[in-house]
Amino acid sequence: MLYKSYQQIRADLDEQRITVAQIVNHHLEKIEEHNPNLNAFLEVFKEEAIIKAAQVDLKLKQGTAGRLAGLVVGIKDLFCLKDHLVSCSSKILEDFESQITATPIQRLLDEDAIIIGRQNCDEFAMGSSNENSAFGLVKNGANPSRVPGGSSGGSAVGVQMDMCQISLGSDTGGSVRQPAAFCGVFGLKPTYSRISRYGLTAYSSSFDCVGILSKSIADTELILEIIAGSDERDTTSSRKKVPQFSQSPIKSSSYKIAYFDEINKVEGIATSVSQMMNQTMSSLKTSGHLLEKVSFPFLEYLLPTYYILTSAEASANLARFDGVRYGFRDLEISNLESMYKKSRTQGFGSEVLRRILLGTFVLSSGYQDAFYTKAQKVRRLVKDYTEKILEEYDFIISPTTATTAFEINSKTIDPVEMYLADLFTVQASVAGIPAISIPLGEDQNAMPIGLQVMAASFEEEKLFSFAKSFKIT
Ligand code: GLN
Repeated sequence: MLYKSYQQIRADLDEQRITVAQIVNHHLEKIEEHNPNLNAFLEVFKEEAIIKAAQVDLKLKQGTAGRLAGLVVGIKDLFCLKDHLVSCSSKILEDFESQITATPIQRLLDEDAIIIGRQNCDEFAMGSSNENSAFGLVKNGANPSRVPGGSSGGSAVGVQMDMCQISLGSDTGGSVRQPAAFCGVFGLKPTYSRISRYGLTAYSSSFDCVGILSKSIADTELILEIIAGSDERDTTSSRKKVPQFSQSPIKSSSYKIAYFDEINKVEGIATSVSQMMNQTMSSLKTSGHLLEKVSFPFLEYLLPTYYILTSAEASANLARFDGVRYGFRDLEISNLESMYKKSRTQGFGSEVLRRILLGTFVLSSGYQDAFYTKAQKVRRLVKDYTEKILEEYDFIISPTTATTAFEINSKTIDPVEMYLADLFTVQASVAGIPAISIPLGEDQNAMPIGLQVMAASFEEEKLFSFAKSFKIT
């Protein structure tokens, strides 16, 4: 029972060839089969999902079912779902129970989707390999000696191994697109502000986006259509009208596409990735697209800009986890200060601590101008330059990542080496534009490779149009 898209599920439900109860059971079986080894789910809402399935089956019979009846969803453990735990894969929030439901999750529930569980991720979404979880790493279903990518690693593996039909993740610098590429699924980071972040734990507020991991563009379109749009609880959410993505046709078969000359010269880019990219580009030309080489002189500044700004914002956002208001508190304390220090030192993992320290440093007086303010200026340059390219071209393409999924533990000693895994994904985050990772195929070791396509702000419809028509010939 492998469904590429919800459309097929719905057709089978409407024809009574299957029930929601059977679909839920199927995913529960997949979770039972794979989760003990892969560790993609931190918690499975088994009983709840079974009860909800029976209710939705009844609604289908009565003709009152919502637009997502029979859709089984996994959520990254960064989203609040009322009366359920949300740990952000951190010891500091291990027993914390949500008092609210995140807006995108509520919008799925309102259409009768079923939330099957919360998915493992890097602690507070900081990481590129899902090795920074307080509850154990996640393994890639294509090869369990490799990482799934991060930080939404559990969410990508959930879809990859059919433990759920789609997952909601978060993408601050690539956390949906990069694991999607490593696991061979679709990953969308929409335009900044397109989807409300009410109920999504904040990492870096001027970058954070809710993202969608799926098996098809059709599902990505449908889900975006349902969860996007303004929300009075998130004043940063855009009021722009949300198009009916799922109804929109393929708009054009001939797009103007830019690619960066600098990318092939990146040190460490895998031969399999550049070969697949070259093959893709010639195939795009053959199918009538215009491809042009463009220079992007900021490539080497992207990662420093991203890591300075996100660490600064993270140090502010994570100040609330202090042992007083939420979660873990160390009890062997002598005074207030030692309670803060001990609770935070023991509650957070080493990567989160590193970023809080780095973020505090770049914001401290004496260093703020040299680091934080300078990074803000570079961000503006990158954004303006990227937008200018996208005035002339429909898309910018690149591989999603420079390599395929790497071996577990191979990059954990050197954080800078790990940060390089985000080289191609951070540009869209710095600029706030939408980007998607499309599965391209596999290398000689059967490890997936992804194509990243970026478009101008609020041009998701065009991205989908391209992605739907895309095939390698
Ligand atoms: N890997 C990047 C980081 O560690 C991106 C994370 C994300 O998008 N949440 O910050």
